Amino acid sequence: MTVVERTAPTPWHRHADGTLWTRHSPAEVEWTEDGMPLTGLSAPEREALTAHHEAGHAVVGAAHGRAPLYVSLDGEDGTPDDAGGFTAWRVDTLLTKTPWVQLAWILAAGERAADRWLRDSGLWTPARAWCMEWASSDDRDMASAAARRLRHPFDITWGVGDQPHDWSVICAQTDQHLNIRWNTVTTVAQILLDQRRIDADQLMSLTG
Ligand SMILES: [Zn+2]
Repeated sequence: MTVVERTAPTPWHRHADGTLWTRHSPAEVEWTEDGMPLTGLSAPEREALTAHHEAGHAVVGAAHGRAPLYVSLDGEDGTPDDAGGFTAWRVDTLLTKTPWVQLAWILAAGERAADRWLRDSGLWTPARAWCMEWASSDDRDMASAAARRLRHPFDITWGVGDQPHDWSVICAQTDQHLNIRWNTVTTVAQILLDQRRIDADQLMSLTG
């Protein structure tokens, strides 16, 4: 893997395709045939990682009045999907009626919950942390697109400083939202592992 020259004064790293800034160095990982990084985790560990990623989105979303319709460990079409789970958002309210910073917390909660689960499980490595950032590029793209659509006078920056639209700041704030709700995140993740799906009613009974 090649890494392109950095073009901004940031300690973060730019992916070879130029579209993704990551806190951790692009790792020398093997790739599956469908383009996912192999992280050396067992299949149950990968599933638990996905469950905590999706639970993070759902719990932080519910805390800000944006509970998803349902969350599934399977892909959007309902078939088992090794590439990750699926959170069915109420797109009309999530993308158009959510203040940008709240939307950013909800979107960052997937990668930050996955990162915390790796640490709590003794499985965290810089390479796996990079894989989590890479696997969350769709969430980051959604946050960037929302900033443009909402006509915010900024683009997201990546590890540049302490401005409120820097992703490092969003991640630090998201960690705080997750910290005070971590028991709920792990409960939702376990329900996902047990029954592969959780609907809005059951989610709301857990998140209040
Ligand atoms: Zn996600």
